[in-house]
Amino acid sequence: MWILTKEFTFEASHLLPHHDGKCARLHGHSWKGSVYVAGDKLIKHGAKQGMLIDYATIKQYLNPLIENYLDHWHLNDTTKLESPTSERLVEWIFNKLQRTGLPGLIAVEIQETCTSRCIYYPKKHSIIDAIDAANLVEFLIK
Ligand SMILES: [Zn+2]
Repeated sequence: MWILTKEFTFEASHLLPHHDGKCARLHGHSWKGSVYVAGDKLIKHGAKQGMLIDYATIKQYLNPLIENYLDHWHLNDTTKLESPTSERLVEWIFNKLQRTGLPGLIAVEIQETCTSRCIYYPKKHSIIDAIDAANLVEFLIK
């Protein structure tokens, strides 16, 4: 089993309308994210021989999302989430990537500040079920 991680960044504003603190006010973050892709078979032939997936391929799936919904956008508008918390946003990104068909996608992580981050993976994911969940969590939370 291999797990690859591709990191991405974007600048965006949001606000959490129901929050009882400063997050209710319009503010921005320099967000960092990671996409996790897993699989147990490497490409056997051609230019991508020995790869699970080309990192550049992951980037091709990510770029339209970053350009059209995330970077220099107001996340409340572009995601249409009522309250785009890290938890909701990371789930939204995961679902978007899954719908575009990114092969082997198992998890997405988002980092809102230097000290706050959130990982989303669907519980019923077959690849997650196939490997030791404790080992995965250990890998993800490094
Ligand atoms: Zn915030």
